Amino acid sequence: MSKAPALTAFRRIVVKVGSSLLVDHEAGSLKREWLTSLAADIASLHKDGRDILVVSSGAIALARATLKLPRGALKLEEAQAAAAIGQIALARSWSESLSAHGIAAGQVLLTLGDTEERRRYLNARSTVDKLLEWHSVPVINENDTVATTEIRYGDNDRLAARVATMMSADLLVLLSDIDGLYDKPPTPGSGAQLVPVVPRITPEIEAMAGASGSELSRGGMVTKIEAGKIATTAGTHMVIASGRVMNPLRAIIDGGPCTWFLTPANPVTARKKWIAGSLEPRGVLLVDAGAVRALQLGKSLLPAGVTKVEGTFSRGDAVIVRGPDGHEVARGLVAYDAEDAEKIKRRTSADVMLILGYTGRTEIIHRDDLVMGGG
Ligand code: GLU
Repeated sequence: MSKAPALTAFRRIVVKVGSSLLVDHEAGSLKREWLTSLAADIASLHKDGRDILVVSSGAIALARATLKLPRGALKLEEAQAAAAIGQIALARSWSESLSAHGIAAGQVLLTLGDTEERRRYLNARSTVDKLLEWHSVPVINENDTVATTEIRYGDNDRLAARVATMMSADLLVLLSDIDGLYDKPPTPGSGAQLVPVVPRITPEIEAMAGASGSELSRGGMVTKIEAGKIATTAGTHMVIASGRVMNPLRAIIDGGPCTWFLTPANPVTARKKWIAGSLEPRGVLLVDAGAVRALQLGKSLLPAGVTKVEGTFSRGDAVIVRGPDGHEVARGLVAYDAEDAEKIKRRTSADVMLILGYTGRTEIIHRDDLVMGGG
């Protein structure tokens, strides 16, 4: 049987926290003591140089508790208004808990499109990248106040998986009120066994997930398995563990109950495979010999090295990069529309702002969005 990895072996970790862990519905308040213990775990992983991102639910549940809204489903506009009230308190609590450890928290509210549509995906990714570069901890939630049914995730398990793949995280931790996947519904006397490691999500694994969830969180085991599929396909490992204990990340490190979903890939190669293989190129950038050398050294493509722009593409589309002899050198996601790329080709990065009238990216293709070799 495959072995469970060590949590401390990962460099970029997304921690998803379910509503029922953070909100005490009876008391109508946030579970501060628990949040303090989680923040301490996050701080100790962060201190060792890891990137930590939090995806936190709880906005709607918190508002429900504060406003004493009746149980049961909320209408869309009620949920949106509740999120507006709850999110402020939620973000403040995260900010306070993390700042006690000298960590700045940055609130990021996303909708489905921000992680799916490529142009916006690039925007969200560079913002979150910057937060990580500043050693802050992004605290992410769905933008429930503006998200209508069509543009909603509706559950933060999948949002967290998308964030993990968007940011090429190597681990996604789902903390909820269940300690992992059981081989049958874990009702008393059922003799159900916790599955410690899932090497691959098969139909049998999906069948085990059943369809139950707790009252506060929308995500039952089914959405967790969905999240597992998104994550493991993109090269991100996932672990489901209970957040019903103090210091829940420490508990995983100490060998507490949990289920690991393993991926055979790694996030960088999975992303590069996606760029090289699955995306239809929309245009071509011809580059000079100096740019080819820079790319071969693993650098980004700068506007100065581009000699000709072909095709009609939008920012975020895949394009082919060809050398002076017309040979394909690389493929990548371009940071400018064709029209703007045309204007800034052969120009220095310093000129770009003057030409376009806005400060764009320095790179026309960032090295993380570039795959060498081509076909
Ligand atoms: N975004 C929702 C909130 O913060 C939670 C969705 C979920 O629990 O999956 O209230």
